[in-house]
Amino acid sequence: PTSSLPSVSPTPGFVRVRGARENNLRDVDVDVPRDAIVAFTGVSGSGKSSLAFGTIFAEAQRRFLESVAPYARRLIQQGHTPQVDEITGLPPAVALQQRRGTPSSRSTVGTLTTLSNSLRMMYSRAGTYPADAPRLESDSFSPNTVAGACPRCHGLGIAHLPTRASLVPDGTLSIREGAVAAWPGAWQGKNLRDILIALGYDVDVPWNDLPAESRDWILFTEEQPVVEITPQRDRVAKPYQGRFWSARSYVLHTLADSQSQSQRERALRFVESGPCSLCDGSGLTPAALAVTVAGLSISQLAGLPLTTLADTLRPLTQAGSAGRGEASAGVEATISRDLLARIEVLVDLGLGYLSLSRSTPTLSPGEMQRLRIATQLRSGLFGVVYVLDEPSAGLHPADAEPLLVVLEQLKSSGNSVFVVEHNMDVVRAADWVIDVGPHAGTGGGEVLYSGPVGGLAGVPESVTRRFLFPASDTTDAAVPAPARREPHAWLGLRGVNVHNLQDLDAEFPLGLLTAVTGVSGSGKSSLISQIVADDPVDRLVAVDQKPIGRTPRSNLATYTGLFDAVRAAFAATPAARSRGFGAGRFSFNVAGGRCETCLGEGSVTVELLFLPGSYALCPACHGSRYNPETLEVDYRGKTIAEVLGLSVDDAAGFLADVPAAARSLETLREVGLGYLRLGQPATELSGGEAQRIKLASELQRARRGHTLYLLDEPTTGLHPADVQLLLAQLNRLVDAGNTVVVVEHNLDVIAAADWVIDLGPSGGDAGGRILVAGPPEVVATHAESRTAPYLERRLQ
Ligand code: ADP
Ligand code: ADP
Ligand code: ZN
Ligand code: ZN
Repeated sequence: PTSSLPSVSPTPGFVRVRGARENNLRDVDVDVPRDAIVAFTGVSGSGKSSLAFGTIFAEAQRRFLESVAPYARRLIQQGHTPQVDEITGLPPAVALQQRRGTPSSRSTVGTLTTLSNSLRMMYSRAGTYPADAPRLESDSFSPNTVAGACPRCHGLGIAHLPTRASLVPDGTLSIREGAVAAWPGAWQGKNLRDILIALGYDVDVPWNDLPAESRDWILFTEEQPVVEITPQRDRVAKPYQGRFWSARSYVLHTLADSQSQSQRERALRFVESGPCSLCDGSGLTPAALAVTVAGLSISQLAGLPLTTLADTLRPLTQAGSAGRGEASAGVEATISRDLLARIEVLVDLGLGYLSLSRSTPTLSPGEMQRLRIATQLRSGLFGVVYVLDEPSAGLHPADAEPLLVVLEQLKSSGNSVFVVEHNMDVVRAADWVIDVGPHAGTGGGEVLYSGPVGGLAGVPESVTRRFLFPASDTTDAAVPAPARREPHAWLGLRGVNVHNLQDLDAEFPLGLLTAVTGVSGSGKSSLISQIVADDPVDRLVAVDQKPIGRTPRSNLATYTGLFDAVRAAFAATPAARSRGFGAGRFSFNVAGGRCETCLGEGSVTVELLFLPGSYALCPACHGSRYNPETLEVDYRGKTIAEVLGLSVDDAAGFLADVPAAARSLETLREVGLGYLRLGQPATELSGGEAQRIKLASELQRARRGHTLYLLDEPTTGLHPADVQLLLAQLNRLVDAGNTVVVVEHNLDVIAAADWVIDLGPSGGDAGGRILVAGPPEVVATHAESRTAPYLERRLQ
């Protein structure tokens, strides 16, 4: 007999969310299974991230912060308290979001993945040392430690060499005329000159006519004689003690110790910068570089692409291969087995072309996230929820399968994997799907479906359904075959040499939509970075994902210029005229109309005891950003603050007869941004939203022209339905006579392009060639191309 007691414990195996109201979520109740791969789907702006990150992850983080001591809390980035009634069954969570590189330029693939630590241990414990050399600690193999840093360049790998030519650019001048350009100007420079006079040097002959040993002493001596100086011209000044600095010691001292950024920049003009000659750019000491594994120094090994590194380590995993001491060969085998296993995961994730020494600020957000995912596999954590943001971003379709294997591994080690995804191949492979929608902003925010993937086929209001099950919906299945445009004129690149591209020639058809394709690391971004405006192209515009502004003071209304039209409309009202308010009065960025308590930001920083500062609504204007007098003026019943609070969709109706604003709003809707609020701060927008705002402002000014637009993965963050909108807009630019070049993995875009340039065959040194260029049908038949089989299937 079963127990009749009502269950008092939370539903086993589920994270139960009740009453979620974060951003646009409409009081959402949903049960999300644990120990499963769960895909969150829905059009952009529907509320997927608000649920997965803004609610579930934010709550897990808030609980974690509650549990740590206040002094530790200070060190951790403050989370926010989500708008939700209750969440039960919630394990600790780890978010792996896509962010641009880390600020520290010393961070590398090796340090991020912690593979560098193991590599150092291997060199320390099992490396081949020169005869009589003492064993070194692990730390000695890191340029970031006192023990390991090259004494000449302090571990930076870059040397600043003051040379005769860099210190004295013009040897026909005398010292009095400023021959030693590296010396400071003004009083300090005159002081150094007076010391030379006191020491008996001739400061009035051309520098080149001074004896060589005098010149070298002035430039390079380490001596700092102190001399009594009697100022020559200034009779009132008293004699004083002056200390001499040679030009080199002055420059090096400035570079190392000066607090002034501008002084350091000036000093850099008088040095030659290059790889440090002592450590050959590695930043390590000669003693560390002398230790080898497989015949290579640690810096050589760290510079290999991961695929080559794996091949180099593989023989070492067999103990006894080296013919050295048993013990160190055993250690070598153990460590190299561990390293190899971890490197193979990175290679599987399509990152085999990266090296351990590659610095993280040069990586794309997709590459960063996959590195983090691979690192988590080894963390040994279980019972954790991983929340991932479009892990397929930047991945060629050929690399999506290994990604799924890695997600499965995270799950089988006892974790839950929640992914916000647009790639239908990844969604199909999930155990469970949560579809949010049906539309964006206020038109979304509801969970339309939560269950095994197949069940979504029975939910007609889901926009995702027809892309997940193309055959289920006959009304949308027939995508008309686009009429391809024929190339007539070309933009040629000759002899391109950058990263893995060697002496490459490429031809971009003008007046067409071109997709540049190829697996990650094949050289797509490197290639398009070399396109420059040229005769047949008047203007080159990169529509990228960088923020449209870094402070809450920028928003889409200010960026697109539509706010100017709105302010002019307010200034033209009788109420504004009678008060003498011009358009400037309605700006929140300048004094006059704005709230002076928050200086127009709408929020103020509050300092809490023990906690880092956080934002709170401005107590004076309650977030409206304006002072009460400005808010007395209305345009058709709405204040300027209320207009900033409108969504693009609502504003399009409200501002229909302000032509300049109406045009902007229309293009914003056309790129699928109707759900954004006019005043939504730039800091709240995703990279994809920023990119589409830039695209909209280009569309708005697009005239017939010869502009070349470059877009790097514009479909990132886009639902397949939004991809269709984007394509329509790109075609509009092309129809107006412009050229559009996109780097893409999305097969809908590749199949719809007029021309495809496919790079490969693989990443890094195994890539960098143009395998085939032509219309999609031609590329689809190429034997060596890894894009071809996917494109062929898509075109059928
Ligand atoms: P998705 O992940 O489905 O693209 P989001 O959850 O990011 O959607 O956004 C849902 C809605 O909430 C959108 O209308 C968006 O503009 C809005 N939104 C997102 N972040 C914020 C925020 N920090 N403040 C206010 N509104 C936001
Ligand atoms: P894709 O855009 O096809 O993913 P990339 O052009 O980014 O390829 O990379 C091509 C090759 O150039 C890869 O081997 C990559 O590691 C290398 N590479 C790209 N950017 C840099 C950089 N900033 N520094 C060093 N190598 C780079
Ligand atoms: Zn050095
Ligand atoms: Zn205020």
